[in-house]
Amino acid sequence: MGDNNTLVRARDLTKVYRTGDVEVHALRGVTLDVHAGEFLAIVGPSGSGKTTLLNLAGALDSVTGGGLTVLGRDLTELGRRARAELRLRSLGFVFQAYNLVPVLTARENVEFVLELQGVGRDRRARSTDVLEELGLDELADRRPLEMSGGQQQRVAVARAVASRPKLVLADEPTANLDGENAEILMTMMRRLRDEQGMTFIFSTHDPRVVAYASRVVTLTDGRVSADKRRNADEKRNPKNPDTQGAS
Ligand code: ADP
Ligand code: MG
Repeated sequence: MGDNNTLVRARDLTKVYRTGDVEVHALRGVTLDVHAGEFLAIVGPSGSGKTTLLNLAGALDSVTGGGLTVLGRDLTELGRRARAELRLRSLGFVFQAYNLVPVLTARENVEFVLELQGVGRDRRARSTDVLEELGLDELADRRPLEMSGGQQQRVAVARAVASRPKLVLADEPTANLDGENAEILMTMMRRLRDEQGMTFIFSTHDPRVVAYASRVVTLTDGRVSADKRRNADEKRNPKNPDTQGAS
């Protein structure tokens, strides 16, 4: 399986969507390695393939061509059931819309995922831990409709990381948030990476959100058109978008 430090290894990865007679080449040969501990932003215009790439890396959709290995598993060879297992055991997801279960409280939303993962008696302790750790304990008993969008998205992050996944995939996680809530969310995710070494791949349009990244991969028309690493100084000073990404 190669090197344990490479969480995602894409080689000339392609994805073609077919609807009737129409073919859309969403990814046209993406080669990319994502290493443990990266805080990677995927940027690019609408339709450039960001969601497609995240969906493939998240084992949510099937590869058309090329190679894709995620956490040592060859996704081109993995069946539906094995993909579901990989998602459940090892990956965390945060989507653009908050996707919490409306009838469940914040705590129950977190525990629901743990339950699917077969966590038994520890569930309550684990949900309490993660909500506390992320400063969300006062939201524990609220349902989604009793929370702001920003609060719901923070709970969605808590739910995504409750099982300590190695890799968290977030598709435009701040798209529905105002600037202040976007910053709170990014700071929270960044802390999980800095303090726990959790690896994040997130897509975004927002330069203020890109500023938090340790690395920025730009997709253009289904291809990687730029791949830039940030230096340590920039990482420590994410609030200055004007100086970011130009290196
Ligand atoms: P982005 O997230 O960067 O906006 P997407 O990955 O959603 O880009 O889309 C890439 C291309 O693939 C676009 O042309 C889009 O219309 C097309 N596409 C995405 N999903 C589907 C689908 N399920 N069926 C057909 N075409 C799709
Ligand atoms: Mg998208």
